[in-house]
Amino acid sequence: MSNGKASQISRNPRLTALNIQPYNTVHVITVSKEDYLKAILEAESEGETVISATLAHWLKVSPPAVTMAVRRLKKDGLVRVQADGQVTLSATGRRIARKLTLRHHLIERMLSELFGMEWWKVHDEAERLEHAVSPDFESKLLAKLGAGGACPHGNLSELESPASRRRRGLVLLADAEPERTYVVSGIYERDRHLLEFLEARGVRPGAKLSLIERNYDKTLSIRTAARTMVLGRPAADRVWVSPVPSRF
Ligand SMILES: [Zn+2]
Repeated sequence: MSNGKASQISRNPRLTALNIQPYNTVHVITVSKEDYLKAILEAESEGETVISATLAHWLKVSPPAVTMAVRRLKKDGLVRVQADGQVTLSATGRRIARKLTLRHHLIERMLSELFGMEWWKVHDEAERLEHAVSPDFESKLLAKLGAGGACPHGNLSELESPASRRRRGLVLLADAEPERTYVVSGIYERDRHLLEFLEARGVRPGAKLSLIERNYDKTLSIRTAARTMVLGRPAADRVWVSPVPSRF
C-alpha cells in the first residue's frame, strides 16, 4: 500500500525534485547508515516486505537517496538486495540494527524513568541520542535500568511482530470486543502526531479503556476513565491492548 504511494511520488518529477532538495523539508535530518539498517529491521518487524520504496516512505527521504544508500550498504556487506528488489539485512547489518534498537530502548527508558520525560516525547529524543551511546554507557544504562522491560510506549527492546504480540494475548484496539475492558499495552511510537493525539485523549500505556460500540463509519466509540470519545481506524490500528480478565 505504502509502496504504491511511494512509487507514485517517484514518478512525479515535481515531487521527486522537491524531495531531493533537503532545505525544502521542515526538519533537515541526516539519515545515517545506522538509520537505514534500523529502518529495515523495524519495517520487517511490522510485517512489511522491504524494498527501496518502503525505505523512502519509512525514512522520509527521496527514492534516489535510498538507491544510493542501499548501494553503499550492499558494498559494505550490510544488506543483500534480491532480484525482485527486496532488501534484507546481512548478519552484520542485523547485529548493528539490533544494537541500535537496544540503545534506543535504553535511552527512552532513561529519559522516562530517570528524568521523568513525557512518554510521547522520548522517541524523538532517543532517535537523536541513540547514535552517541558508547558500549561503556550502554552497560551503565543496562546496570541501572535492568535488562528487558518495556519502553514508555509499552514496547519491548526486541522488536516484535504483530504475530508475536498476538501470541502474548494482545489485540489491536481496532479488533477489540464491545463491552470488554482493556489495558493499553503498546503503541506504535514512530508517529509523534499520533502519540500527541492519543495523549490528549488519555489513551496512553497502562490506561484502561473499553469499547462501547463499533460505528457505521468504522470508527470506534471508546470510554476511558476520564471521558468517552470516537477513534478512527488509523489510530485504533496503532494501539495494542490487553484484555482485563472479566470478573464473572
Ligand atoms: Zn518506545
